[in-house]
Amino acid sequence: MLTAITGINWGDEGKGRMVDLLSQNYDIVVRYQGGNNAGHTVVNHLGKFILNLLPSGILRPEVVNVMGNGMVIDLAHLCGEIGRLRDAGVAISPKNLKISDKAVICLPYHVMQDVLEEDRLGDAKFGSTRRGIAPVYGDKYLKKAIRMGELKTLPALKERLKGIVEWKNLTVEGAYHAAPVQMEELWSWITQYGGQLADYVCDTGLYLNQAAAEGKNIMFEAQLGALRDIDFGIYPYTSSSSTIAAYAPIGAGIPNRKLDQVVGIMKAYSTCVGEGPFTAEMFGEEAEALRQAGGEYGAATGRPRRVGGFDVVASRYGMRMQGADEVALTKLDVLSGMEKIPVCVAYEVEGIGRVEEFPWGDELNKAKPIYEYLPGWQADLSHCRRMEDLPAEALSYIRYIEEKVSCKIKYVSVGPERDQYVTME
Ligand code: GDP
Repeated sequence: MLTAITGINWGDEGKGRMVDLLSQNYDIVVRYQGGNNAGHTVVNHLGKFILNLLPSGILRPEVVNVMGNGMVIDLAHLCGEIGRLRDAGVAISPKNLKISDKAVICLPYHVMQDVLEEDRLGDAKFGSTRRGIAPVYGDKYLKKAIRMGELKTLPALKERLKGIVEWKNLTVEGAYHAAPVQMEELWSWITQYGGQLADYVCDTGLYLNQAAAEGKNIMFEAQLGALRDIDFGIYPYTSSSSTIAAYAPIGAGIPNRKLDQVVGIMKAYSTCVGEGPFTAEMFGEEAEALRQAGGEYGAATGRPRRVGGFDVVASRYGMRMQGADEVALTKLDVLSGMEKIPVCVAYEVEGIGRVEEFPWGDELNKAKPIYEYLPGWQADLSHCRRMEDLPAEALSYIRYIEEKVSCKIKYVSVGPERDQYVTME
């Protein structure tokens, strides 16, 4: 069974907690894109963990975790993450963590370039997390990147790196007038952190292909959501990688295999970090109350997230991009206590009128939300474990969304803990 768990919205849907929950039935969890620019939060009996790079299956001792070739890996960050988990009692070794030899290394100069560019843009900034992700993916496609497997042949890597640093400094010094990248400093960073990780590096594509042939259950864990996909998202306010399920076998290293199932993680309301069009956005007291209730602050950066009601237009589009077979609706408990629940059912675009298909470009920038309201509920949902425990209004809200996105909602999560969810009949 090959299953992808993907985000339907702008990210932060609660994918980490759903992977943590569903991974009990899987042998392997694979991250197939992205870097440490977002965080998956998992809460279990060991504590609360924010995972930026490690697959969320790392918290289950029997699960093997794979970091695929589609990822970009900041070596220092990964060493730190492994260290923090070990300190909390999580065992991590090459037995339960395998890193693709073809995954790209995010170097300190990528982080520096990200910062230099955001600063140069000033008010027109993208709202980058400044973790070097766009520059490193850019270098990947310029064929100037370093890959994890090269850590195993250091003399050859050093030679190649010299030429790349010379090239990089043309930009750093020439375009940004910043201090040049120093080879010595960079090399000591690579050897210090790379040395700790080299034993985890292998041909993960071969490993996964064999595992799939043996009938192992493999889960692919996406970072961010459909609306952040480099091709289909709110470009240029997207991430720099493919966040969609169709990319999972490629970013994992098994393009020859097809997915059996896609689970779409959809939040009961909308949130968006950073800049870019976010039509359903709410402001003022109503927004602040929702942000507080949902604890909507970035897992990687602590930035307050923009919030809004559930967006039917964007979610239906996200569902189409992900090809989800079933949905997990998360954070329904956060809406408790609202008198009426806002739902953005369509957009109003100047000069066009009512729009129900997700627009792009200038049309999206100009779109205004058309809101409808559904009856709210007062009861605390966090103790609900069966469908019968849910108030009638919450059930109606679930059915309403199900109908709008034309897909079955299989799970509803009502809290961050592993057991705080309801399986829908
Ligand atoms: P991800 O990147 O998609 O994994 O999402 P994040 O980890 O950034 O954000 C999800 C946040 O919501 C985390 O703090 C979770 O612990 C929390 N969370 C997940 N599911 C629920 C839920 O059903 N209810 C509540 N109240 N919090 C949840």
